[in-house]
Amino acid sequence: MGKFGFTVQATDGKARKGVISTPRGEIRTPAFMPVGTAATVKAMMPESVRATGADILLGNTYHLMLRPTAERIDRLGGLHKFMNWDRPILTDSGGFQVMSLTDLRKLTEEGVTFRSHIDGSKHKLTPERSMEIQRLLGSDIVMCFDECPALPADEATLAKSMRLSMRWAQRSRDAFGDRPGHALFGIMQGGDNRALREESATALKDIGFDGYAVGGLAVGEGQEIMFNVLDYAPGFLPEDKPRYLMGVGKPDDIVGAVERGIDMMDCVLPSRSGRTGQAWTRRGQVNIKNARHMDDPRPLDEACTCPACRNYSRAYLHHVMKSQEIICSMLLTWHNLHYFQELMQGLRDAIGAGRLSAFVADFHAQRAMGDIAPL
Ligand SMILES: [Zn+2]
Repeated sequence: MGKFGFTVQATDGKARKGVISTPRGEIRTPAFMPVGTAATVKAMMPESVRATGADILLGNTYHLMLRPTAERIDRLGGLHKFMNWDRPILTDSGGFQVMSLTDLRKLTEEGVTFRSHIDGSKHKLTPERSMEIQRLLGSDIVMCFDECPALPADEATLAKSMRLSMRWAQRSRDAFGDRPGHALFGIMQGGDNRALREESATALKDIGFDGYAVGGLAVGEGQEIMFNVLDYAPGFLPEDKPRYLMGVGKPDDIVGAVERGIDMMDCVLPSRSGRTGQAWTRRGQVNIKNARHMDDPRPLDEACTCPACRNYSRAYLHHVMKSQEIICSMLLTWHNLHYFQELMQGLRDAIGAGRLSAFVADFHAQRAMGDIAPL
């Protein structure tokens, strides 16, 4: 069995280019992870997700534990086999999604009891149960069970929550045990409070993890506050381990996070917005529902090599959106995932060549131009 490892190959300012090695393959960093919530990246075949350039997917513990259940997936050979994705999978701990069920949950030192949004049945998640579920799924990168408070929050609330998460981090570490080839990531909390972020990072480093996430951001605080935290928080974490920013984000969030030393990100944005007629291109966001596209024979993005741009016009994409045809979700999701992965490749190449600031300046200049003019 191969080992889990991380190598930084190049740096440019605070940004890092590297590779995470796992027994299921390498993950080029900075990496964007598409989200496969219920054992599928919606509207995409796994081989299509791979064709966009994704090295790793994210699966959601909360959704999978309720349906079809972790025990059933385990009996069927694990999540990779179940969903036909043989490359690395990262699973979240379930914590974030359970916490967002504010009316349906009860939080104690031991963990969280909650009612399923599907059938109202009662469940309990603890650090130990989250580790068990993620083991049954066969996840390559397992996340600690933590609590994530919404921002803004006062210092006392942030401190109490962060310290609970650090006790849960130790319990997660103990329950995870020694599993060669599998990684456990700790999650830094502390909201937008610098001292609490540093305290959290110190607690995690004392426990010792294979990678470290910056949690508690992208929870509605806005880009300015997020970047303020990212100006210092990654620096509290070990340089020789991957740093993962959870739930981010929009293309300009991704670029800003990579500039600040983040190695991994995930977000539902490219797939979710693909299903609502929103496309992301190097010239910014395009709403394909807009009537201006009705007679437009040009592709979404002339320079994009994805199937949606190579083989279909804006007029066709507009038509299948208005007609609510399934192919619209398929094509726009493919395009969006392709665009996000191409952006990551561009960032990796730029860091490797020591020209990240020029790449970022060009990224912003192209977006500032806006979408191509109507015909
Ligand atoms: Zn495209």
